[in-house]
Amino acid sequence: MFDNLSERLNKTLKTLKGQGRLTESNIKDALRDVRRALLEADVALPVVKSFITKVQERAIGQEVSASLNPGQAFIKIVKDELTAIMGEEATPLNFNVEPPAVIMMAGLQGAGKTTSVGKLAKWLTEREKKKVMVVSADIYRPAAIKQLETLAGQVGVEFFPSTADQDPVEIARAAHAEAKRKFVDVLILDTAGRLHIDSDMMDEIKHLHDNVKPAETLFVVDAMTGQDAANTAKAFNDALTLTGVILTKIDGDARGGAALSIREITGKPIKFLGAGEKTDALEPFHPERMAGRILGMGDVLSLIEEAEAKIDKKKAEKFAKKLQKSGQFDLEDFLEQLQQIKNMGGVGGLLGKLPGMGQLKDQVSGDFAEKEFKRLEAIIQSMTAQERAFPAVIKGSRKRRIAAGSGTSVQDVNKLLKQFTQMQKMMKKASKGGMKNMMRGLAGKLPPGMGGGPGGGLPPGMR
Ligand code: GDP
Ligand code: MG
Repeated sequence: MFDNLSERLNKTLKTLKGQGRLTESNIKDALRDVRRALLEADVALPVVKSFITKVQERAIGQEVSASLNPGQAFIKIVKDELTAIMGEEATPLNFNVEPPAVIMMAGLQGAGKTTSVGKLAKWLTEREKKKVMVVSADIYRPAAIKQLETLAGQVGVEFFPSTADQDPVEIARAAHAEAKRKFVDVLILDTAGRLHIDSDMMDEIKHLHDNVKPAETLFVVDAMTGQDAANTAKAFNDALTLTGVILTKIDGDARGGAALSIREITGKPIKFLGAGEKTDALEPFHPERMAGRILGMGDVLSLIEEAEAKIDKKKAEKFAKKLQKSGQFDLEDFLEQLQQIKNMGGVGGLLGKLPGMGQLKDQVSGDFAEKEFKRLEAIIQSMTAQERAFPAVIKGSRKRRIAAGSGTSVQDVNKLLKQFTQMQKMMKKASKGGMKNMMRGLAGKLPPGMGGGPGGGLPPGMR
């Protein structure tokens, strides 16, 4: 997601970055480019307009001219306002009800509701330590109930059976009673897909909603529909009070217009992103981190949370200690991180979260990602321990030897070293400020969800 927008914005902002003084005319030029980039990303027009107005007001004011580095100040404004249109703070699920808390899904056919039920069930079980039960009120397609049963089995949560001849309200009531009896914390209710213009189907879900009184009513919507996602969310919200949105298929959406439009158009927060078909491809939505990702600053906090949940804890702690002590990040660490990331699956998405690795992410997708990974691994494995610890010692003849040893070219070795240097620079910058918090988070000393506070992992000056 956001690949094109990210590229466009970075190009525009780069020209401003080093400027000692910003004039109204180069601010105007930059804003025109930003505006065009947002429209091309399929962000809804009213959202683009209000965004540009706000950035413009701040950019021609004191904030920029009085700052030591006007280019950076401008970038900060863009980041702040991107964060603001996505809703400022992450909005967690509300469990502040008598259990079981019911989460109801709503949305169009094929949006990814059932898949998201499976993902969310897994996420709540593993990350939030909740006891979860799922149930389907999709009585129109028996295969849909079966689909949910299979998913529940895969992620290891309780499945409450239902059949196509039952009434959705009855199904929900029976499931609720059973969930209560079994001391379930969260009951996730899947529903049939429907169009907001289908009044019978909308009446059905309203009736279901009135009876169930869910703690959360989540609208599930396909990111690939762009700004239409925001418009359908608004139409559903008019009929059914939503508490949030799950934006799915962001892995297939290069533009990002949906993510940037939904909050402004509907007033409802995006709570989760679906980033793939697998059951672990779900991430909580953090506006500020997302703004950082769009601007190529990386999203180290999300990466660390993912790491906390998925990677080898011992290794992570070792890595954290080492970074804390020396502030150094060497190729050995890089290799370890690569291997951990590989274990975690989604290569492209993960790389997008690493500062300075956004570009690499574009090159690595699908099969290519696998190959590129193997190559990076092979190159590092062909290095001596000294070379891994002090990559600066790697000069011409050593490069040739490493290339020969890994079956790659000197060019490949150079490329890796360059990527590594970029990453090391970002890591160093980060270690001056927010890195401590970040690493505390990594070592698992902070409670989940408190990864160092807003902006904690971003390099100073970018907060
Ligand atoms: P529902 O009709 O809303 O219940 O949609 P489903 O959950 O059955 O999903 C429809 C299709 O979208 C399935 O093929 C899913 O595998 C796919 N899908 C769901 N979420 C995602 C996602 O985040 N990324 C990708 N690539 N595919 C997804
Ligand atoms: Mg379904």
